[in-house]
Amino acid sequence: MELKNIIFILFFLISVLVFIWSCRNLIRYMLVAKKKDDRFDKIGERLKRVWVIAFAQTKLLRDPKAGILHLIIFWGFVLFLFAVVEAIIQGFYSPFNFSFTGAFYSAITIVQDIFSVLVIASCLYALYRRFISHIPRLEVDKAGKIDAVFILLMIVFVCVFMLGENISLVAKHNFVLGQYEVRPVSQYFAGIFYKSTGSANSYYEFFWWAHIVVIFGFLNYLPYSKHLHVLTSLPNTFFANLDEKRKTLKPINLEDETLEVYGAADIEQLSWKQILDSYSCTECGRCTDSCPAATVGKSLSPRKIIVDIRRRTIDKAPLLVNGETSGEIFEKTLVHDYISDTELWECTTCMACVQECPVMIEHVDSIVDMRRDLVLTESQFHPSLGNVFKSLETNFTPWAFNHADRANWAEGLEIKTMSEDSDCEVLYWVGCAGSFDDRYKKVSRAFASLMKKANVNFRILGTEEKCNGDTARRLGNEYLAQMLIHENVETLNHYNVKKIVTSCPHCFHSLSNEYKQFGGNFEVKHHTQFINELINEGKLELNNESAVTKATYHDSCYLGRYNDVYDPPRELLKDINGFDLVEMKRNKSKGFCCGAGGGRMFLEDEEGGKINIERTKEALGTGADTIASACPFCMTMLNDGVKHFEKADEVSVKDIAEIVLENLSIRV
Ligand code: SF4
Ligand code: SF4
Repeated sequence: MELKNIIFILFFLISVLVFIWSCRNLIRYMLVAKKKDDRFDKIGERLKRVWVIAFAQTKLLRDPKAGILHLIIFWGFVLFLFAVVEAIIQGFYSPFNFSFTGAFYSAITIVQDIFSVLVIASCLYALYRRFISHIPRLEVDKAGKIDAVFILLMIVFVCVFMLGENISLVAKHNFVLGQYEVRPVSQYFAGIFYKSTGSANSYYEFFWWAHIVVIFGFLNYLPYSKHLHVLTSLPNTFFANLDEKRKTLKPINLEDETLEVYGAADIEQLSWKQILDSYSCTECGRCTDSCPAATVGKSLSPRKIIVDIRRRTIDKAPLLVNGETSGEIFEKTLVHDYISDTELWECTTCMACVQECPVMIEHVDSIVDMRRDLVLTESQFHPSLGNVFKSLETNFTPWAFNHADRANWAEGLEIKTMSEDSDCEVLYWVGCAGSFDDRYKKVSRAFASLMKKANVNFRILGTEEKCNGDTARRLGNEYLAQMLIHENVETLNHYNVKKIVTSCPHCFHSLSNEYKQFGGNFEVKHHTQFINELINEGKLELNNESAVTKATYHDSCYLGRYNDVYDPPRELLKDINGFDLVEMKRNKSKGFCCGAGGGRMFLEDEEGGKINIERTKEALGTGADTIASACPFCMTMLNDGVKHFEKADEVSVKDIAEIVLENLSIRV
C-alpha cells in the first residue's frame, strides 16, 4: 500500500465519521418533535412519487427556465456518483476503474464529460440569475447569499476538478483513451493543455486529490448549510403526504387527556416530518412568489415560516437533546418570537405554496397547527373571530343569522327536506353562504331551478344542515370544527345519505375529503361537475343564441388546487354559444386566491394590499364583461373588487349555475 492510499484512508474515515456524527445530530434534533405522524404506508406509491417529483423534477419544470437549470445540476450530481465511487475506490487501490463494465463504462465516461461542462455552465448561469439578474424570488439575507455562492462554487469545483482529473488522465496515457472510455471533452482539452505526457501525472494527482477533498468537504458542509436539501429533499418527497391526505388537515385527538398544548406553540409540538420539511427548504422562494398574501405586500412569507422552524430547531433542539430546560432560548417560543401572530393569520390556506414547493413541503399544516395553539391553547385571536366562533356555536353559521331561517332561500321553490321525505337521488348541501348571503341565495335558487328543470330527485336538509366546519377548522378552532362535523355526520348517516351535491367548494372539500376522518363517507359533487353531467346526459340543453360575451373564469382554490376540478366550469362556459372564454395569466393550478379562504373572509386586512383587488385587477385586465366563479367566497371578494374599480355597470360577477340557467334552451 502506497503512502497516498494510507493518507486517503485516514482522510476518508475521518470525513465519513464526522458526516455520520452530523447526520445523527440532525436526526436527534428532528425527534424532539413529539407529534405522532405515521408516513410509512404505501411504500410503492411513495417511491413512484419520488421518481416523478424528484428524479423527473416535474414540479421544478413548472418554471421551465429554472427547471431545466436544476434538472441539469441534479442529474449531473446523480451521474457523477459513478465518478465519486470510482475516485474513492482508487483511494484504496489506485489502478481501479469501471472499465470491466464494458459498454456501461463508455456511457459513464461520456456522460461525465458532457455533464461536467453542462453543470459548470448551469451553475454560472444560476449565479448570474441570482446576483446579476436579481430574480426577486431568489433574494435572501446576506448569510443565505454567501451560502448560495459557496454551494454553487463547490459544485463548479467538483466538476472542474473531475474534468481536470480526466484531462490529465488522457494526457498521462499518451493521449490515447483506455478500452471503453469515451471522453470527447477531456480528449479535446488534453490536446490544448498538454504538449507532452511529462507533467500529466503530477497534475492528475493534484486534480484527483482536489476532487476528493472538495467532495468530502462538500458532504460535511451540507449538514450545516441552508442547502441541506441536497441530503433531505429525497426523503422529504418520499415521506410527504400522499395525494388523498395532502390537502386535508389532520384531526387533533381531543379525547387525549395527556395533551397539554393543542396545536403547536414550539418545535416539540410539531412532528418529525415538519422538522424534516424545514431541513429540506432550498429557500428557492417559489412558495413566497406564489403566495397571495406576500404578493400584495403582507408580512406572511411561506418560505420564512419554514426557515423559521429550521432556525428555531437549530437554536433549541441541541439544548433539548442535552437535557437542558432553562435559559434564554427557553424564554422564547416558535410562535410569537420567531413567527408572528400576524403572519399566521394572513394565510388564506390557498395551497399555492404547497403546490409550487419542489421538495413537497407542507406549509399549511404547520400554519394551521400554530393557529390551533393561538386559538385553543392561548386564546389569542382577533376579537372579530370571537364573534365568528360564537355564531358558529349558536347559529351553526359564521354569520349572526338565525338558524331557523336557514331554508328561507328556498321559499316558493317547493323543495322537500330530508325530514319530510328522504327518498331521493341526491342531497343538495346548500352551505352557509347559499342559505344566508343575499347574493349567493340567488345562486342556490338558480342551481335548484336547474335541478328541477332536469327532473333531479333532490332534497335539502333545511334547518338540519349546519356549517361544514371548514372555517372553524382553518382558523385553528379544531374543537368547534369537530363539534360541527360530528353533528353533520350524524345527521347525514341518519338519513343514509350516499350522494351529495354542493355549490360551495369549501363544503365540497370538507364533505368529500375531511368527513372521512369522522365516519362520513359520501360521494360528493360540486355543482359545476353535476351540471356538466346533466348536460352530457341530455337532461339540460344549452341554447345557441347568446349575445357575444367575453368571460373569464376565476378558479376557487378549494375546487381547483385542492380537488383538481378545473375543467367542468370551463367546459360549461365553452359549451355556451356566444361565450368567448379568456384566461387570466394565473389560472388553474397557478390560479391566484380571492383572499377569503382559511377564515380570511371574516378578518380585516391590517397591513399590505388587498388580495381580492389584485385578483380583480387581473380579471378586469382580460377585458371580460363577465367574471365567472363557482364559490360563494370568491363571488363576494370579486364583487367587492369590481365595485372598488367602479366597474359594476360594465362587468358582472356571476356563478356558473346562473350563467347556465340564463342560457338554457328553454327557460325554467
Ligand atoms: S396557503 Fe396560500 S396564503 Fe397561505 S402561505 Fe401558502 S400561498 Fe400563502
Ligand atoms: S418551502 Fe419549498 S418552495 Fe418555499 S422556499 Fe422552501 S423549498 Fe422553495
